[in-house]
Amino acid sequence: MNMNPGKHVKFSIWYIVLAVLLVWLFQDLVMKPLAIQQTEVTYSQFLDDLNAGKIDTVSVGTTRIFFTTKANASKKTPPVYNVVSINDPTLVDKLTKAGVTFAGQPPSNGAMTALLWWILPLLPLALIWYFVYRRMKQGGPQSMLLGKNKSHEISGEMTGVKFDDVGGVDEVEVELKEIIEFLKTPERFTRMGAKLPKGVLLVGPPGTGKTLLAKATAGEAGVPFFSLSGSDFVEMFVGVGAARVRDLFEQAKKKAPCIVFIDEIDAIGQARATVGSVGTNDEREQTLNQLLAEMDGFEPNQGVVIMGATNRPEVLDKALLRPGRFDRQIQVTLPTEQGRKQILLIHTRPVTLGEDANLDRLAQITPGFSGADLANIVNEAALLAVRRKSDSVSMGDFDLAIERVVAGLQRKMPLRDEVKRRVAYHEGGHALVAQLLPHTDPVHKVSIIPTAKGALGYTLQMPEEDQYLLGEEELKERMAVMLGGRVAELVIFNEPSTGAANDLERATDLARRMITEFGMSKSLGPVRYLNDAGMGYLGSSPGLRQEISPETATLIDREVKELVEGAQKWATQLLTDHSDALEQVAQILQEKEVISGEEIARIAQEKKA
Ligand code: ADP
Ligand code: MG
Ligand code: ZN
Repeated sequence: MNMNPGKHVKFSIWYIVLAVLLVWLFQDLVMKPLAIQQTEVTYSQFLDDLNAGKIDTVSVGTTRIFFTTKANASKKTPPVYNVVSINDPTLVDKLTKAGVTFAGQPPSNGAMTALLWWILPLLPLALIWYFVYRRMKQGGPQSMLLGKNKSHEISGEMTGVKFDDVGGVDEVEVELKEIIEFLKTPERFTRMGAKLPKGVLLVGPPGTGKTLLAKATAGEAGVPFFSLSGSDFVEMFVGVGAARVRDLFEQAKKKAPCIVFIDEIDAIGQARATVGSVGTNDEREQTLNQLLAEMDGFEPNQGVVIMGATNRPEVLDKALLRPGRFDRQIQVTLPTEQGRKQILLIHTRPVTLGEDANLDRLAQITPGFSGADLANIVNEAALLAVRRKSDSVSMGDFDLAIERVVAGLQRKMPLRDEVKRRVAYHEGGHALVAQLLPHTDPVHKVSIIPTAKGALGYTLQMPEEDQYLLGEEELKERMAVMLGGRVAELVIFNEPSTGAANDLERATDLARRMITEFGMSKSLGPVRYLNDAGMGYLGSSPGLRQEISPETATLIDREVKELVEGAQKWATQLLTDHSDALEQVAQILQEKEVISGEEIARIAQEKKA
């Protein structure tokens, strides 16, 4: 049941229906009996009047007989008298003899009334139900129903996914081998009294194949795969999450050996609110508590292995990571070049590749791409080939696909000339600084075609190799590249623009990390000033430690400013020294909207100061 806004409209319609029913019932059950009482006569009186020829019309109902008198016949609405019907077989004869007009009445009304008498007592209940529903917004009795209904849907799935379908995670596969052995022949392990980890947590950035790996583990072991995603629980009725967790484990235990997989576990497994804090999330806590209880509630040798996946392990409630719960963590990292090649091979299996398509080269120029990104690139490239009406995917298709995945879909949106000119110098500035500095990643391509994601242009740098370690000098160079856009605008137009806001944010972030995290400041020394929360995979910048003194904080701010300013000076120096090159790059960009890395390198070489 989804809670769409239509629900409320329906509810108000029900209200109107209820009101009509109530009015009707009131008339039928209160007003009518009153009127009937007032105009009731005795049966003997009725018979007397009938014999005396005083009666005009008669209507015979199942419980009452209604009649009008001749005395009132001339009136517009003659008063209707009534009499309780007596089982009198001679009545019809008497009526005929008296010469009155008479008719019967269908008995429906009585039955209807009786039915309504049944409904009436339910009305207050319905009202209470409705208010409870309103109060709890998404709670109420239905929640229980939902929990029950869903239980039918929880059934183990034979995934059929194999490790062959997952690339670049050989180490993870080795770690999972033991689990697979256990699931295949649990007796062998239990006979030895060996204890296996109850829960395995896959940790890594989004799109690295965690979900896929869990499925492959079930597939390799040939056991059913039960899964729930933490995000399913968000915005659910109170109590449903817990009920589903209970159902899930109940079903799973029946099908053991099997795997229970809880995807995006951070959605329910976030640290529970501490006492006294506001804004607790009852539903999440109930679900989490149920999960903990279930994990504690069975023995490791029952043959149920619980797997979880998250990209934010740092927010997880510590209780989840205790022994006997998710006591083994496996890191799933972004693929290396070799891994990327494997993943590309997997995803290009159903694709016809053109002769020039070079997967080695593709793997080389895609450091930092996740498995999901690569799958996406292959799919985009195949779509582009179809659009070209070609029956094979060429390297050109892949190149374009990479750009699309990196920079969002290209969209032709005409820019005003002066904006375009500014963007051309801005991007040219980034690219030229990157080209001139020795340690930065080479420029692949610069474009001033606005992207769907809202950037007016972009400079694409492709690292030659995977980098795990960066020196202070390299970081400073990166910062200068980030500021290159703004500096170019300053050099040419003598004023900055809003276009550099994101660059400034990134440069400031980097400077702050250099000082507070990497110990790259002389005056502040090799001390960590950052909060323990760490950066997280999403790159959110955490705050400073709480115990830091205001003086230190001021010092940090000053050092950050100095670093960024230094980078800006450096970029300014480079771009004023190479202003001819900047002019030429910007010129080409304005004409063609794109310029390749090689061309920039050539220009920089020719116009060497
Ligand atoms: P995660 O759960 O880590 O966010 P998924 O397992 O949902 O990532 O990956 C999404 C998709 O990306 C997969 O269905 C698969 O097509 C592709 N993919 C991701 N990682 C890999 C990999 N290592 N090997 C092959 N395909 C992958
Ligand atoms: Mg996933
Ligand atoms: Zn920029």
